[in-house]
Amino acid sequence: MIRKRSRDAQRAYPLAQCARCGGDLYAGTPCWRLAGRTLCEDCVAPWLLEELAAFHIRCGEVRL
Ligand SMILES: [Zn+2]
Repeated sequence: MIRKRSRDAQRAYPLAQCARCGGDLYAGTPCWRLAGRTLCEDCVAPWLLEELAAFHIRCGEVRL
């Protein structure tokens, strides 16, 4: 028996876009809501690292 494609591309319209990569987010897609942005799973880690860049130092470095 030939398996029919269950996904209907016509009905799958994006509900939101990732704030970082602009990727479409569909209903049921795991995503992150942070600081008023919606981020896909691929972008949340790099986005967080960018946001935390001010705290990224070298060990032993003194910041005033
Ligand atoms: Zn993304």
